Amino acid sequence: METKDLDWGNIGFNYRITDYRYISNFKDGKWDDGELSTDSNVTINESAGILQYCQEVFEGLKAYRTKEGHIVTFRPDLNAKRMYDSAKRLEMPPFPEERFLEAVDKVVLANEAWVPPFGSGATLYIRPYMFASSPVIGVKPAAEYQFRMFTTPVGPYFKGGAKPITITVSDFDRAAPRGTGHIKAGLNYAMSIHPLMEAHRKGFDENMYLDAATRTYVEETGGANFIFITKDKKVVTPKSNSILPSVTRRSLLYVAEHYLGMKTEERPVRFDEVKDFAEAGLCGTAAVISPIGRIYQGETVINIPSGMEGMGEITKKLYDTLTGIQMCEIEAPQGWIRKIK
Ligand SMILES: *Cc1c(COP(=O)(O)O)cnc(C)c1O
Repeated sequence: METKDLDWGNIGFNYRITDYRYISNFKDGKWDDGELSTDSNVTINESAGILQYCQEVFEGLKAYRTKEGHIVTFRPDLNAKRMYDSAKRLEMPPFPEERFLEAVDKVVLANEAWVPPFGSGATLYIRPYMFASSPVIGVKPAAEYQFRMFTTPVGPYFKGGAKPITITVSDFDRAAPRGTGHIKAGLNYAMSIHPLMEAHRKGFDENMYLDAATRTYVEETGGANFIFITKDKKVVTPKSNSILPSVTRRSLLYVAEHYLGMKTEERPVRFDEVKDFAEAGLCGTAAVISPIGRIYQGETVINIPSGMEGMGEITKKLYDTLTGIQMCEIEAPQGWIRKIK
């Protein structure tokens, strides 16, 4: 199949319509067989549960083209499981994990022409999501749901090398201690847009959220987990019940331990420890790791020793190893790569 002729290095991280999406509907207590569709529009009732009470969960993963021309996904089983858990928390009927995996294969294959070439730095982003599609007006779970999965090609996150970002400790909180911070749901993003715009207006790239109960511990940003490297080269990542279990972060910890022979710690991280770290980064599917150069809390600034020029040494090693595994340039642990073609 002929690959589309796009300027892959410059497409950015934007929605771009592709040919097919996968759709399955939940009705009368069960999911239907599901099918591919060329219709990118959703038509729902004006009182649909998603529109009134925000019953929606989503996922994000990527398909990669390898040097040999194969198409693979990276640990999609973890996305399937996480979406299952997210749905349960919002009283939505979870989509079976095995069917999630089959749907990923199906929708990527159908959009094969949109999978960017190896070496372009671009990938095919996959967005699974589901929402309450039938009307509600009193507060309750809807009776009907739609599961959809579309793809959109996205460019390399870093053009011309990773530029460290500047972040600020937010005055707002992201997630309550026993709230919904650990699930991937649009509702966690709706409330993060205002703090994000406030941060941007003040000249920062991102927010660092602290734990809402004590504002003592580091949580995460609006859409990425933190990893830190200590001066004696340990990888430290915050542990909290109100952060999203990032697939990238969990994979980086494994890579640090089993590929790079480093010690790792997943534990509560106090904000007042941050000044002592050697390197810091944000991790998620979109960028893998964005290095952090500076962290502000009000007027106080922490200059991360790895600086504002590029990734720190350990961050770079972690980044290169994980992206090497994702592209099948480096041998992956058992079960991490799902070959679609
Ligand atoms: C999706 C997401 C992440 C990153 O998770 P990955 O599985 O690594 O992409 C981190 N934090 C939040 C709040 C997220 O929604």
